[in-house]
Amino acid sequence: MAYAYDDQNIFAKILRGEIPNDTVMETEHTLAFNDIRPQAPVHVLVIPKGPYVTFDHFAAEASAEEIADFHRVAARIVAAAGIAPGEGGAGYRTLSNAGMDAVQEVPHYHMHILAGRPLGRMLQPA
Ligand code: 5GP
Repeated sequence: MAYAYDDQNIFAKILRGEIPNDTVMETEHTLAFNDIRPQAPVHVLVIPKGPYVTFDHFAAEASAEEIADFHRVAARIVAAAGIAPGEGGAGYRTLSNAGMDAVQEVPHYHMHILAGRPLGRMLQPA
């Protein structure tokens, strides 16, 4: 089954400028902004500008240029925040929720970048 993109989702409205956002970085293909309900001192959302629902949708259907740009933006944000372990930073977590079991709230692909405090283990026991 193919993905159907809902262009009324909140990130689509942010991309159209209908809802304000606290932009961290913007390129031709990618927008990054601060999460409205931060769960750590650093909590940035990186989104492609194209209409992709989930990671797998983006990775399968976006162009190589979009995919590279998305990840370069994420890397530049990590570098600018001083959280890259390779540069002496304390580290960070990237994560992306997809669908029901992961409780994806917004059906536009996004990567969370979380940092600035100990983040605990990846998952709590079910
Ligand atoms: P998900 O659960 O889909 O992985 O994460 C969606 C994220 O989007 C949540 O962390 C939530 O706080 C954030 N979010 C929802 N609505 C808005 C909004 O209007 N602006 C911003 N900046 N973040 C939002």
